[in-house]
Amino acid sequence: GDFPIETDTIVIGAGPGGYVAAIRAAQLGQKVTIVEKNVLGGVCLNVGCIPSKALITAGHRFETAKHSDDIGITAENVKVDFSKVQEWKASVVNKLTGGVEGLLKGNKVDIAYGEAYFVDANTLKVMDDKSSQTYTFKNAIIATGSRPIEIPAFKYSKRVLDSTGALSLQEIPEKIVVIGGGYVGTELGGAYASFGTQVTILEGADDILNGFEKQMSSLVVRNLKKKGAEIITKAMAKGVEETDTGVTVTYEAKGQEQKIEADYVFVMVGRKPNTDELGLEQVGIELAERGLIKTDKQCRTTVSNIFAIGDIIEGPPLAHKASYEGKIAAEVIGGHNSEIDYLGIPAVVFAEPELATVGHTEASAKEAGIQVTAAKFPFAANGRALALNQSEGFMKLVTRKEDGLVIGAQIAGANASDMIAELGLAIEAGMTAEDLAMTIHAHPTLGEITMEAAEVAIGSPIHII
Ligand code: FAD
Repeated sequence: GDFPIETDTIVIGAGPGGYVAAIRAAQLGQKVTIVEKNVLGGVCLNVGCIPSKALITAGHRFETAKHSDDIGITAENVKVDFSKVQEWKASVVNKLTGGVEGLLKGNKVDIAYGEAYFVDANTLKVMDDKSSQTYTFKNAIIATGSRPIEIPAFKYSKRVLDSTGALSLQEIPEKIVVIGGGYVGTELGGAYASFGTQVTILEGADDILNGFEKQMSSLVVRNLKKKGAEIITKAMAKGVEETDTGVTVTYEAKGQEQKIEADYVFVMVGRKPNTDELGLEQVGIELAERGLIKTDKQCRTTVSNIFAIGDIIEGPPLAHKASYEGKIAAEVIGGHNSEIDYLGIPAVVFAEPELATVGHTEASAKEAGIQVTAAKFPFAANGRALALNQSEGFMKLVTRKEDGLVIGAQIAGANASDMIAELGLAIEAGMTAEDLAMTIHAHPTLGEITMEAAEVAIGSPIHII
């Protein structure tokens, strides 16, 4: 028989949104069950952030090993054993997903494997192949994430791959076509280009990495081209023909239909929220645009005891955003008056060079009617960047003109992904350019770029004229 199990808070989905929410809710005294239909860690740990960064690292190592002649190092016979790369990648993923399991258990969160479906606003069914278990709950947090969009003319198959397929190839392809020059297409296309694959990126818009300033994305374009990649913008992918050994992709650019042959085509045109098979209609949870769940500033849905976080609600579909919202929702359930504030949410592209942004850009500040100073400092004027042989790029610090308040920053350059954290802190803590300029940064470090950009903002830089 199916005797209902009672729980305080039920979390649906164990990605970076759900598992963090479950742990925080348990820390705040709730009896928590987390439901996962697949594997712990969600997209991010299993088929997203982590495995993609592992492949990118391996690609970098390979390239650096081959091309360090300019600093006096020549290596011959540098080879890749791609199945070993894949094994290492899997070991990284396994360490992390095992860690999540340990953390959940350590916080006394019950893990239920199966697919969750709402019966009503206090009841959920969890089903696997064989059985079904009913849970009753006081509060629920939906964190079911998203999946790749499929375009009708490019049905996924053995050679038409989504990001998951692209991450798990067992050999280095000779030639690939990537449809979509967003961050996923650029990162994965770039990773394979590092391994020597001939990559063609087809992008519908004027530029790849459309959300970033052209001065930043053009550095990435230049490096992709150096690796032999071809980037075709304003291109419409039309269709694909599959043969035994590859694909022929048809696209339209400059009013002409063209064809390219390749081993695989990667379709990376975005993701859609997993909100269609949850029984949301049984409970009366309202949707916003594009199948996203409507929520307020506390991540509460239109049904007051049910919350939603991560890729299934508005805002940038990023892992740290999902985790942040997970903590907020758990705290609200725990009786705290927490609210989301997205200004300090960074976004990073792990391309070459890395691109990172937090808070306002010069343009978005102007749009918001804020008078700003945009202060730039080049990596080429930083000793550490030169000693790393990675002197390409710049930081741009956006401060409010009237008082120097830090309201945003963009970085294109080595370690931008780590450097952006200091700027997020500055925004969060309400610091001014003067605060950053007066903070002593160790020498020689890339962190000094932040200090110097702040000095540019207040008008007294030491290392540039
Ligand atoms: P998910 O991680 O999607 O997890 C949702 C979980 O819910 C899944 O485990 C799923 O199985 C489960 N689930 C779904 N429906 C049900 C159901 N009915 N019952 C039970 N369980 C269910 N973001 C970054 O911040 N940095 C990056 O570098 C980055 N790189 C990426 C690279 C790639 C290739 C991709 C595809 C994504 C990347 N992302 C990155 C995005 C990031 O992975 C997502 O934003 C993040 O995983 C969203 O977290 P989530 O908790 O909302 O959902």
